[in-house]
Formats: sequence, C-alpha cells, structure tokens
Amino acid sequence: MQGSTKADTIAAPTGRIAAMAAVDTGRMDEYREPRTGGAGSPDLLLDPDRLLRLAGASLMVLAPHPDDESLAAGGLIQRALAYGARVSIVFVTAGENNPWPQRALERRVWIGARQREAWGRRRRCEAGEALQRLGAAGSASVHWLGWPDGGVTWKLLADTATMLAQMRELFERERPTVLVLPDLVDRHPDHSALHVLTEMLFQELPASSRPVCYGYLLHGSSQPGPPHRAVFALNADERERKRAAIMAHGSQTALSRRRLLRFAADTESFAVGLDSHDLAGARLPWLPPRVLRPLLAMLAVDAAGGEKLRLAGSADANLFWRDGSPAARTARPMQPPYYVKLYCPLPSPWVFDGWGWCRFGV
Ligand SMILES: [Zn+2]
Repeated sequence: MQGSTKADTIAAPTGRIAAMAAVDTGRMDEYREPRTGGAGSPDLLLDPDRLLRLAGASLMVLAPHPDDESLAAGGLIQRALAYGARVSIVFVTAGENNPWPQRALERRVWIGARQREAWGRRRRCEAGEALQRLGAAGSASVHWLGWPDGGVTWKLLADTATMLAQMRELFERERPTVLVLPDLVDRHPDHSALHVLTEMLFQELPASSRPVCYGYLLHGSSQPGPPHRAVFALNADERERKRAAIMAHGSQTALSRRRLLRFAADTESFAVGLDSHDLAGARLPWLPPRVLRPLLAMLAVDAAGGEKLRLAGSADANLFWRDGSPAARTARPMQPPYYVKLYCPLPSPWVFDGWGWCRFGV
C-alpha cells in the first residue's frame, strides 16, 4: 500500500458533501477538483472555504487539548461562522497533565491530582476566552469529553467501545459535513490516537454521513509524497483574531510563545482525507536495531479493542519486521483496519512518538 495515492476517494467525495453540492449547485462534479498533478506542485483537491459556504454546512473541530483548536483551525472556525455554518468544537481532554508549564508558572515541583485538576480548569477558562476572541462563544457548541490528558492512547486500548460510542453520539448530534482532526502522523500520542479512533468510527458510518476530513499536524513533519494538501488562506482580520486566540492560552504561551505564534500565519494547511497516509504494507514498517527490540513494546488496536504485545521471536508470530523475522503475536486475529505502533516503556520526560501508528489490513 505504500505510495498509493488513494486519489480517487479524495477527488470524488461521496455522501453528505456530494449531496449538499448537488442540492446547492446542481452540479456534483463541482467538487471533483482537477488534479494539478506535477511532482511537488500543490494538489488542492478540496477547498474548505467552498465547502463551508454550502447551505447546511457544519464544521466540527476535534482538539485533543485546549489550544489545538486555535492553532490548527482558528482561521477556519472564523470563516465558518462568517458564512453562517454550524460550528462545534470537541475538547477531548482538559489539558490537565501539563507539568512543565505548571511547575514554571506555579513555582512548585510536586504536582498532585488536585493541582492537575486546577490546571485543567485554568485551561478550560483559557479555551473559553480563545473561542470568545474567535467570535465563537455562544454560537459554537462546545463539548468536553474529559478523557485523560496524556492517556488517550491507553484509553483507546482499554476502552475502545466506549470511546467509539461517545464519538458516534457526537457525530449524530452535530452531523458535521467538514471535520478537522489531528493527522495520523502527528507525533503527540493523544493526537495520533484520536485520529485512529476517528478512522475506526468511519468504518461503521454510512457513506452518506461521512464528512470531508482535514488533518492538521502540530508536532513533527509530514510524510514525503501524499497526502494531498488543502491550503486555507486567512485574511488580515482573521489572522489577527487567531493570534489573539492563541495568546488567550496563557498557560501555553508562557513558555512557548514564539513557537505557538508561528501558527498565526497567513495560511492553515491540512491533509485532505482520512486515508491519505498509507504507511504500512504487510510487514511492520520499522526495523529497530536488534539490541533495542527487547526494550520496546508494541500496541495494536482494532474496533473490538486493544492489546499491548510483547515483542518476541515466537515462531507463530503474526506480525513481522520488514526483514521478515517474527515480531509479535496478537491474542486474537485483528480485524482490518487495525493499527500498530511501537513505543519505549522506559520512563522519560519525552512524550512524543518515535514509531507512531501504522494502519494495516486495508
Ligand atoms: Zn494537543
């Protein structure tokens, strides 16, 4: 699957957007953007601005933490509101597990449950102020799921069905036509786990209720080749309001002001489509040195649940390294699509993925 472009599924959206386009313009082919082709040229297959202008448009933004909504889509949220589209923001965690800024700002070393909770409340207030500055307070519907900050991956493994049910309910309530969500290759584990969950949800959604997806990348760099990118241009006023919204997250800008304000740029860039990253073939895409392998652990998840797998040279292993040697065995056959990632369980202040989720079986 590596290198496959999946261009057809992106170029010809089905379901709600195609139906809306047909109603609105009478021309379903409006959304079959010409592929500009050419290696390295921008390949704008879908235009979020045009989608948000359609009657009945509904934008949903999935934010693993408070601040992701402003950083990733502060411009898009404003434009959607200006067009009269419905807007919903889903904060998956309250961002309560954020020890380094909390230590610095509160001048404390030890952070217990009570302090974490208070930090989460502070971040919720900041998010409210940010939405106010984007003009979304009162007009957007805001959802707080209360999932554990820094623990979305573990919840995904242990609580897959509950999470899928919560997301399904949200989709049924908000009926998004445009969905902004973290990219699969984002190196923050809460971000990538939320993407995996959304892909699994889409497996059970009828095509008619699947929104067009725009993936944002806040940590790490995108893969070479596909995905196709949508580049959304902000006007000067939108850019200024986006900057103000980012600054409302004072707990985050205190230590990272310059890095965060880089997102208050002229454009917001998104990977178009859920399936625009094909990272895996039949075998595991990584090949860590043999000496490192006993230190690593493997996680696997499908819609029926997750497993933490021991890496072992078992003869009946059903996941293989790129060199064909046995890697791990799942307790039950995983149903496609399923997702696998590697991680290092040794204690470390470094939270980012070294070997993020790869999709198998599609
Ligand atoms: Zn985040």
